[in-house]
Amino acid sequence: MTVIDRNRIPALLSQEERRFAEANPKSQALYERARQSLLGGVPMNWMARWASPFPLFVKEAKGAWFTDVDGHRYVDLCLGDTGSMFGHSPDATVEAVRRQVGRGITLMLPTEDAIWVGEEMARRFGLPWWQIAMTATDANRFSIRLARQITGRPKVLVYNGCYHGSVDEALVSLVDGRPAPKPGAVGPPVDPALTTKVIEFNDVAALERALEPRDVACVLAEPALTNCGIVLPEPGYHAALRAATRRTGTVLIIDETHTICTGPGGYTREHGLEPDLLTIGKPIAGGIPAAAYGISRELSQRALELSTTSGADVGGIGGTLSGNALALAAVRATLDKVVTPAAYARTIPLARRFTEGVEKVIREYRLPWHVVRLGNRAEYAFRPTPSRNGGEAEAAMDADLDRLMHLMALNRGILLTPFHLMALIAPDTTETDIDLHTRVFEESARALVG
Ligand code: PMP
Repeated sequence: MTVIDRNRIPALLSQEERRFAEANPKSQALYERARQSLLGGVPMNWMARWASPFPLFVKEAKGAWFTDVDGHRYVDLCLGDTGSMFGHSPDATVEAVRRQVGRGITLMLPTEDAIWVGEEMARRFGLPWWQIAMTATDANRFSIRLARQITGRPKVLVYNGCYHGSVDEALVSLVDGRPAPKPGAVGPPVDPALTTKVIEFNDVAALERALEPRDVACVLAEPALTNCGIVLPEPGYHAALRAATRRTGTVLIIDETHTICTGPGGYTREHGLEPDLLTIGKPIAGGIPAAAYGISRELSQRALELSTTSGADVGGIGGTLSGNALALAAVRATLDKVVTPAAYARTIPLARRFTEGVEKVIREYRLPWHVVRLGNRAEYAFRPTPSRNGGEAEAAMDADLDRLMHLMALNRGILLTPFHLMALIAPDTTETDIDLHTRVFEESARALVG
């Protein structure tokens, strides 16, 4: 297997940074101006975390592509880190939003679209009762509250390497067998050991040990980890998770926000999972803020009692703008016309083509890397075999190499998801777009290997 010569990386990075700066004078000028009023020159801190020396400023996005203010066109494999996974500004969503926006945006009263959405979510995911939230973070927070109240237990169990939004209980890592604040967690309110248990994914014995004291209200789980690279569950893991949670009276929350890449009913439907609560956000309204959580028949009566008390408005579940008319019009149109079986029939083969292209280059250059695919999402990582858990995935991360791969792609017209090397495929993505990525990936490999 080839050993990557790390001494090449700094020179390659400087070369790519120069190329980026020369090609993007307008973005640079806007960035300089932005720094006068926006903390770090961006409206949201993550936007400063791109591999480039300054962020690209976007002019326009549609389908699987966007253009920046300097006139470059990009194949977008980031797609708003899943928010636009089914393409930028899908026609059906745009049309529904256009129709609704002039007829009432938010009222704190339901519209008929809400019923359509409840029925459709129940049909897709199998859980009978639904609530709408604003973001996936909110859906997770509300679900954790319900689980704690229903079980009367304090703790939340999550996996090492997880991300479920800015949920305090889940901003944790496993350090020396104990929960510790995730590196970079800002202002953790309390020692996470008070609120959370963390275990590695795919470790049934650790799961059973953690649940046995019966102090865990809920397991909050992505069905496959997607926030530390893609880590797939081993055969039998989900059956063991469901059995252990049932045996110990622990609520199982499945977060489908990213794994909706698997199919129209998420990983849950594809693999017959039976969660007590299911949360989802990001792409369900084509990028208009909206999220949802589904509730099982078993939990529904208690959830209803808790959500409709006289103190409901200050009870910590719900939010003023949640379930608003505009968001629901967008969810309805997006589920009906955009997140369809036909969309997956197109994107999954393209994601396969992406993976095959990357695999071929890895083999040809004998790189100590691998690529994993889940539905229309794929990711490569700097270790020869797929990771079994978050600890293994995080040990393989290489910030400089990661930065170089992103920047080389960006300078050649491809936007990869930041934070790790993930690609999402939209229904409008073409074979030509995928093959461009394969060529650029090969060029990067050649530059590294020589
Ligand atoms: N759940 C998962 C699995 C996620 O990956 C994310 C965001 N990356 C969230 C929840 C939170 O989404 P949001 O930031 O839109 O609240």
